[in-house]
Amino acid sequence: MEKNLENKLALVTGASRGIGAAMAIRLAREGASVIVNYAASPARAESVVDEIRRAGGKAEAVKADLSTLEGVNDLVDAVDSVFEGAFNGRLDILINNAGTVDFGPFLESSDDSYDKHFNLNVRGPIELTKKLAPRMLKAGWGRIVNISSAFGEAAPMAGVTMYIATKFALHGFTRGLSRELGPHGVTVNGIQPGPIATELAPQPGTPGYDANKALTSVGRYGKVEEIAAAAAFLCSTEASFVNGENLTVDGGWNA
Ligand code: NAP
Repeated sequence: MEKNLENKLALVTGASRGIGAAMAIRLAREGASVIVNYAASPARAESVVDEIRRAGGKAEAVKADLSTLEGVNDLVDAVDSVFEGAFNGRLDILINNAGTVDFGPFLESSDDSYDKHFNLNVRGPIELTKKLAPRMLKAGWGRIVNISSAFGEAAPMAGVTMYIATKFALHGFTRGLSRELGPHGVTVNGIQPGPIATELAPQPGTPGYDANKALTSVGRYGKVEEIAAAAAFLCSTEASFVNGENLTVDGGWNA
C-alpha cells in the first residue's frame, strides 16, 4: 500500500529531540524523506536519523542555528543539496518547531530575553517560511505547520510572559499567511501543544510540573507521539480543507 507522504520532502526544525524528533520519525513512517534540523546536538540528531533509517525510512541531519539569519540561510541552502539533490529544490512540508523558553517573572528577565525568545520562536519561522514557501507555490502543493503552544491563545499561569508573547505572534502569523497561500494549494496551520513531557517543559517534582498537570482535564502530561499524530494529519493529503487552524492538543489544559 502506498504511504501517505511517499515522495514528499519534509523539513522539521529542532528535531534532535522532543516533539520535533517524534514528528520527524512519524513523517518518515508516512513515507516522507525528512530533514532533521538541529543546532547544538549532532549526536542526538544522528540518532533520530539512525532510528528512521533502521525502520526503512529516509532522513538526513542538517545543523543550522535558527536564532540567526545566517542559520536560516544555511538551512535553505541545505534543502537543495540533501538527498543528493533528488528533490530538485522542491520542499513539500515545513514544520517550524524549534523553540525556547525561560521561566520566571517578566520584570526579572535578562536583558537578552527578548532577542532569545523572539529570534528563535518568531523570526526564525517567519524568515524560513518566507524563503521556502515559494517552492511550494511553484509545485502547487505544500504543508506548513507552526508549533505554537496552548500559551499561544491563553495565559493561565504566571512566569512565562515573553514565551507567551512569541507564541501569540506565531499563532497570528499562521492565520494571516493561511489567507495568502491557501488559494495556491499550500495550507498553513499550527499546533498548540499543552504540557508535553520533554526537556523544555517543567520537570517532575517542580511546582510548574504539578500546576501544568492540574490544569489538564486528563490529569497527565502529553506524549510527544500525541503531537506527532496531529502533525501527521495536518501534513496529509486528507487535511486539504484545514487551513489557518491552530489545533489545540493539550489534554484539556485550555478548555
Ligand atoms: P526540546 O525538547 O527542548 O527540543 C528543542 C529542539 O529545538 C531540539 O531539537 C533543539 O536542538 C532545537 N533547537 C534549540 N535551539 C535551536 C536553534 N537555535 N536552532 C535550531 N534548533 C534549535 O523542546 P520541545 O518541548 O520538543 O518543544 C518543541 C516545540 O514545541 C517548541 O516550539 C516549544 O515551544 C513547543 N511546545 C512545547 C511544549 C512542551 O510542553 N514541551 C508545549 C507547547 C509548545 P539542539 O539541542 O541541537 O539545539
